[in-house]
Amino acid sequence: MSDQNPVFIPGPTNIPEKLRRAFDVPTIDHRSGAFGEMFKPIFPGLKSILKTTAGEVVLFPASGTGGWEAAITNVLSPGDTVLAARYGMFSHRWIDLCQRHGLNVQIIEEEWGNGAPADRIEEALASDAQHGIKAVLVCHNETATGVRSDIAAVRSALNAARHPALLFVDGVSSIASMDFRMDEWGVDLAVTGSQKGFMLPAGGAIVGISPRALSAMETARCTRCYFDFRDMLAANPDGGYPYTPPLNIIAGLNVSLQMLQDEGLPNVFARHHRIAEGVRRAAAAWGLKLCASSPRLYSETVSALRVPAGFDSSKVVSHAADKYGVAFGVGLGDVAGKVFRIGHLGSMTDVMALSGIATAEMVMADLDYPITIGSGVAAAQEYYRNSCNASKVGTQRAA
Ligand SMILES: *Cc1c(COP(=O)(O)O)cnc(C)c1O
Repeated sequence: MSDQNPVFIPGPTNIPEKLRRAFDVPTIDHRSGAFGEMFKPIFPGLKSILKTTAGEVVLFPASGTGGWEAAITNVLSPGDTVLAARYGMFSHRWIDLCQRHGLNVQIIEEEWGNGAPADRIEEALASDAQHGIKAVLVCHNETATGVRSDIAAVRSALNAARHPALLFVDGVSSIASMDFRMDEWGVDLAVTGSQKGFMLPAGGAIVGISPRALSAMETARCTRCYFDFRDMLAANPDGGYPYTPPLNIIAGLNVSLQMLQDEGLPNVFARHHRIAEGVRRAAAAWGLKLCASSPRLYSETVSALRVPAGFDSSKVVSHAADKYGVAFGVGLGDVAGKVFRIGHLGSMTDVMALSGIATAEMVMADLDYPITIGSGVAAAQEYYRNSCNASKVGTQRAA
């Protein structure tokens, strides 16, 4: 693997030089006022990215999985029923985590390549007249399949069924790269992590908490200690932390939030869309189908490409790493061997994406895929050339 090449895995993502410098900070005493000064500014920034004014945000020293655990244990009790759809490795792993915490998970199985089925969620809620279901769990962007689910539609399903269940959303590979509206969509717990859209190393699990989730917290009986929202929420307003904070992540986050704000969230989303669309044009030119079953489900942060029958997609990933020093994502779970993934989120430009597309093309040519060398690159070049707004690219570079 070369440390000069960008990575094309869907997290952890590339770290811009500016952020690497930002989190290279000396130790400061986290019980001092100086820490509070560094820590407190992250909250308005995080709230504006989650699009919440009503909710609270907390940051745990953990990866995204810790955020899942915090969400579950702070508002639920052992034996509670939660409703979750399974359509990829990440929705699966959140379900597994719930089960290991003694929750009863009512699972809706969906084809991998589909998203959260709002209609089936509504049906399940409508037939739960006793309101045994305490929460609905949705993975916004299923990183294993490159599928984006419609969270507004899931909120409408809850409303249509007049069901009081809380709505928990895994936004680890969408938040800060794709539009996310915590308040408008009525999301009660939103989970994300520092190592994807925020362009930082792993080590910051970010959880948005709605007022309804805050009240549920008072009666929840799942065991929690390290991830207890109450300790965090008691300490944070005065710039305190219940234990040693992830100082470098916090230092980096300040600058990452500033970079996202400077570029402007709508421009960040438009850039992700444009880069993703170039990758999709390349896939079409190669004759490869995406795992996502329809265009409205296409993720803007990761594309999972189905390889032709008879080919093993994991060889694409190992060959790219061995010969060209470039990382792509392997197929996970049900789609292992069948798809490889191109991550295109966080610190990514058209030019970086072109290098990944060109590398994938060389790898497939080396492995005797029935593709025409140059076809994917040409398709992406044509698209980027015609969709690129030079002044925005300039802003990106300045950031
Ligand atoms: C990356 C990711 C996670 C969290 O994984 P960690 O390795 O614990 O950070 C959760 N959900 C999705 C959709 C992800 O992409």
